Amino acid sequence: MDKVLIANRGEIALRILRACKELGIKTVAVHSTADRNLKHVLLADESICIGNASATESYLNIPRIIAAAEVTNSIAIHPGYGFLAENADFADAVEKSGFIFIGPKADTINLMGDKVSAINAMKKAGVPCVPGSDGPLTDDEERNKAIAKRIGYPIIVKAAGGGGGRGMRVVRSEAELIKSIETTQAEAGAAFGNSVVYMEKFLENPRHVEIQVLADGQGNAIHLGERDCSMQRRHQKVVEEAPAPGISEQMRNKIGDRCRKACIEIGYRGAGTFEFLYENGEFYFIEMNTRIQVEHPVSEMITGVDLVKEQLRIAAGQPLSIDQSQIQIRGHAIECRINAEDPDSFIPSPGKIEMFHPPGGLGVRWDSHIYAGYSVPPYYDSMIGKLITYGESRDEAIARMRHALDELVVDGIKTNIPLQQRIMADENFYAGGTNIHYLEKKLGLS
Ligand code: ADP
Repeated sequence: MDKVLIANRGEIALRILRACKELGIKTVAVHSTADRNLKHVLLADESICIGNASATESYLNIPRIIAAAEVTNSIAIHPGYGFLAENADFADAVEKSGFIFIGPKADTINLMGDKVSAINAMKKAGVPCVPGSDGPLTDDEERNKAIAKRIGYPIIVKAAGGGGGRGMRVVRSEAELIKSIETTQAEAGAAFGNSVVYMEKFLENPRHVEIQVLADGQGNAIHLGERDCSMQRRHQKVVEEAPAPGISEQMRNKIGDRCRKACIEIGYRGAGTFEFLYENGEFYFIEMNTRIQVEHPVSEMITGVDLVKEQLRIAAGQPLSIDQSQIQIRGHAIECRINAEDPDSFIPSPGKIEMFHPPGGLGVRWDSHIYAGYSVPPYYDSMIGKLITYGESRDEAIARMRHALDELVVDGIKTNIPLQQRIMADENFYAGGTNIHYLEKKLGLS
């Protein structure tokens, strides 16, 4: 696998490029007309403009990406996260065109992309799930009422094809049930082209804890411990950390082992994440992400494993180079997402970066594509970088994050650095283990 096309932009494209360089793999950057000056485009061995700024004409345009792979004689395509990363049709088109898709098989993406089939597969594999309807809801009102009664209110009605925190509705009593199911079905049909909905117990105050896995599709799988991503706004993660406060080694190994075995059972290949809600000491599976995630660096810092390099090795057909006994969790890592947005209103703030100073020092990692003079385009996600700190203890990681945020200077546009400073100074964050509603409550948003 000597040439990889990077079908993404921003920090993750640069992250993939760095991993390729370390492995001696040549890189092809594809970019939109708005992204000619992206850092990885300038560093790649080859680059190709694939279309206009609008993502549908560039980063979401399957024929253009395949054509770019053809003219550059690429061997494999790395989708990064977002855009086409969890699009089974893309994975299929890549493989049918004779390239390697750096991720799982299209069938696996399909299985995990439908939440009802994902939950069924996970249940079968012994992964704990939220008590629920065990399948799609039908038009039988009495049956639906009986299911809700069995689960116990409050319940949540969710779209099988939902994503991005959309397509779900909390129901607190039987009086609202039938109407809520109908509304969610109609919305899901319009938004996702799939009106299938199912029901789950609504957990009131959970944390978001997820397990990172690596599997080679040849019968080997490992887990790399958990991350806590409970600090969220509108279901978007803002701060992530690993390990999750308060999770014992015994609990980690128990849930991690279930995930590892589930990977083997479904023939999983590549890097992946099992997302759980965690409440009262119990894990409840909600979905699997079949790609590299934004927050992968915190797991890399505490395990020493380069997840993107492992993705590349697995795609090249190599068996996993490490087994579970070699995974040792050491120290603590925190990631703050840095966004080009107003820290109070959250309105995106694209524009030219006039001055830029990255932070540094022991245990400080800055994964970002920005530089002084770079213009943040208005067309894409507002994340401009990820600041990651590592320490022997959680306290040390937080202390380092506080000074790293103070050192980080991005002038010319607004950023959420002040928000991250507030979170790092928050006494409940410092204590650890806040739930998924904490940040919105602190900000007075809920
Ligand atoms: P999406 O694919 O849209 O991200 P998820 O199934 O991952 O959907 O759920 C997104 C978020 O919705 C969760 O992080 C959680 O905040 C909330 N949520 C989902 N299911 C439940 C549940 N059963 N109980 C409480 N909250 C839930």
